[in-house]
Amino acid sequence: MSTGPAAIEIRNLHKTFGQDEVLKGIDLTAHDGDVVSIIGSSGSGKSTFLRCINLLEQPTEGEITISGEALALKRARSGDLDAANHKQLTLMRERLGFVFQNFNLWPHMTIMENVIEAPVNVLKQKKAEAVENAERLLHKVGMYERKDFYPSQLSGGQQQRVAIARALAMDPQVMLFDEPTSALDPELVGEVLNVIRSLAEEGRTMLIVTHEMAFAREVSSQVMFLHQGKVEEFGPPAQVFGNPTSERCKAFVSSIF
Ligand code: ADP
Ligand code: MG
Repeated sequence: MSTGPAAIEIRNLHKTFGQDEVLKGIDLTAHDGDVVSIIGSSGSGKSTFLRCINLLEQPTEGEITISGEALALKRARSGDLDAANHKQLTLMRERLGFVFQNFNLWPHMTIMENVIEAPVNVLKQKKAEAVENAERLLHKVGMYERKDFYPSQLSGGQQQRVAIARALAMDPQVMLFDEPTSALDPELVGEVLNVIRSLAEEGRTMLIVTHEMAFAREVSSQVMFLHQGKVEEFGPPAQVFGNPTSERCKAFVSSIF
């Protein structure tokens, strides 16, 4: 057992949009190698939760710690971030890899250019080193042969596998996935889940928002069921899917399986 700090620790996370409190005090501790699936109905706050963790949204309240390092954004009334905050933001973004529903590759860059962009420009890696690493990662996701293609020349499943390689190129401590397969045609879902499954087997720490319940049950160490911005059920997959204490969780799970 690791005795170091948790890979990610979230305490009392709140997010309000106007009058609407979308996250109502979420807690989560994930250790190195944990795979936490986040499930719940549409509008329950799953995306907002992930977006708050990597600061695409600014939390209204709460603490986020990555490998023992607390993220302390000063909340300027104007909503603008000062230089100190920008530094924190950069630090955070380096430690978290984010994979979106809609791939979000740079359309004007080749696959290789997409994967090396951040390592070269943010981490200041030498180009040759970044290319070598990118080749390894593109092999891993089965996309090496397409490295000189442009995103528009690839299927959705292929683009999403490149997006995963691009996130891995920053060697993040935690990978965040927001419904990585929900924009894909059904026949392309499996190839993306296989890549994520291989990352789980390698011990990558991941938070995965997904509607793929069979997949979540198989790969997760813990499952979080969100309901109206609160954690309604949390536990190992056997509990959350097989024997949930919450009636709402029971209803949700039985509606999907
Ligand atoms: P989920 O991912 O579980 O479907 P979301 O986190 O996207 O849910 O949304 C949760 C709630 O927050 C919804 O009611 C949504 O309308 C609201 N919401 C999300 N983003 C914003 C925003 N930028 N401004 C206002 N409301 C938002
Ligand atoms: Mg969402």
